[in-house]
Amino acid sequence: MTDRLTLTRLRRHIHDLVGIRPEWEELASCAQTDPEAFFPEKGQSARQALRICNGGPGREACPVRTECLNAALAQREYSGVWGGLRASELRKLVKPLLAADRAANKERKAKAAAAQAAAREAKAKAKAAKTGARTATRVAA
Ligand code: SF4
Repeated sequence: MTDRLTLTRLRRHIHDLVGIRPEWEELASCAQTDPEAFFPEKGQSARQALRICNGGPGREACPVRTECLNAALAQREYSGVWGGLRASELRKLVKPLLAADRAANKERKAKAAAAQAAAREAKAKAKAAKTGARTATRVAA
């Protein structure tokens, strides 16, 4: 069992417990299936899961593929079958999002560091000005 599978089961369980399961999940074709098929181990086929998602002869496609894919992208899921895509297809979509996340984090950290440096500098200037004023008062007295 993969860690991702464990996380998915845990998330479903928590959603059920606190009643925050997104509405679209109620319509998911995979709602009553074992999620294991959606996280095939290396060398195993994803065909069964893809058939549940995308339909096929005598089977309708899952009606919430778009919502499922959007949720997967929002959560940066990059393994398993989501929205009718296999992991390799999903990774191609998620990789640029992860790169954008990293760039945004880097920028956020740089801004925070610059703000801290500016605050330190302002504090040092204020302290120097106070010391200078005291010295000038003593000299004048
Ligand atoms: S598209 Fe998503 S919700 Fe629908 S069957 Fe596939 S994995 Fe489940």
